[in-house]
Amino acid sequence: MAVSKPVYMDNHSTTRVDPRVVQAMAPFWTEVYGNAGSTSHAYGWAAQEAVDKARDQVANAIGATTREIVFTSGATESNNLALRGLADRDRRPGDHLISVTTEHKAILDPLRRLSRNGFEVQLLDVASEGDSDPVGWLDPQRVADAVRDDTLLVSVMLVNNEIGVIQPLAEIVQACHERGVLVHCDATQAAGKIGIDVQAMGVDLMSLSAHKVYGPKGVGALYVQRQRPPVRLRALFEGGGQESGRRSGTLNVSGIVGFGECMRIAVDELSHEADRVGPMRDRLFEGLCGEIGVGVGLNGPDLSERDLRVAGNLNCSFGGVDGEALMMSMGDLAVSSGSACTSVDPEPSHVLRAIGLSDDRTRSSLRFGLGRFNSDEEVDFAVELLARTVKKLRMLGG
Ligand code: PMP
Repeated sequence: MAVSKPVYMDNHSTTRVDPRVVQAMAPFWTEVYGNAGSTSHAYGWAAQEAVDKARDQVANAIGATTREIVFTSGATESNNLALRGLADRDRRPGDHLISVTTEHKAILDPLRRLSRNGFEVQLLDVASEGDSDPVGWLDPQRVADAVRDDTLLVSVMLVNNEIGVIQPLAEIVQACHERGVLVHCDATQAAGKIGIDVQAMGVDLMSLSAHKVYGPKGVGALYVQRQRPPVRLRALFEGGGQESGRRSGTLNVSGIVGFGECMRIAVDELSHEADRVGPMRDRLFEGLCGEIGVGVGLNGPDLSERDLRVAGNLNCSFGGVDGEALMMSMGDLAVSSGSACTSVDPEPSHVLRAIGLSDDRTRSSLRFGLGRFNSDEEVDFAVELLARTVKKLRMLGG
């Protein structure tokens, strides 16, 4: 199969929209273009019906009920709504918030703002290289030890966007619920990659984003648990009272339809996809080790640990080579040197630092995200290009 260039291996940043999703969305721009809030005519009813169906699909994909899904513009908004919405609404238990050093900026930045507003924010460490636990993993015992009577919320991501580590959310939730503390989970990088069941995990709030699951950009959801005592949030946006007052603003009907469809496909194809993508990711790493050998280091958990690292993620360092220079020298390969959302920030990755890597090793690291549309031929192309470029840069002295 011919390889079409540039080869895309940056599926943690975003994914190509699945053609089936595009097809499902298409009528909602030019035919069914009503406002889902218009109750007086057929255009509005049709839009509302489509939103209801999508809400069902998203809820089903994570084991929630439809009333528990709040559509948002993506995971950044969902995270902000969860953290700031809860902190604004309910300070009763106290002002103590717990999260993790390796979270996405869309968690760390809202937490920083809350700490400026008087909340006490505690960030827990994960296992570093050399520890007995898997690299990047959060021991639930650390959470149990940190939780206090005045803890309002614990926020832990399910899958890390840089090193793909899967956190033990069910155990973390158990430790928190024993003390009556709510748990939010940023599941942006988990959806479509591992099975998600909010009931089994027991989380109270969960953020999702369509564009990481072969859906459109600019749409996501926050799951807000409504069965035990319901979780109550203060809305970030006020206005028309959409989403039961939890998120005002005209609904992005086509985006929501696409989100529903991409989540439906993700559930249907989950195990098949992991079985296909995992070996491709392993082929990439083995190829790099074989062709470059010296100085190739794996960042994050062992690749054989299928329950601890998502199938499509690879993060590795190329000793003696600057990661930015390496990326810039490979116009035919789209990868990233960290999180795209923070690539305006020239600081080395806070995640790689948090797992104990030196600044030099962090700076020589690249992140690869393989997904639904990648092939073995692309992997072989990437290995050959990387090997050639790393050797050239090393000869030039970095
Ligand atoms: N959380 C995580 C873990 C992410 O990877 C991302 C996207 N890079 C976000 C949140 C933000 O998602 P969105 O682009 O939908 O705002």
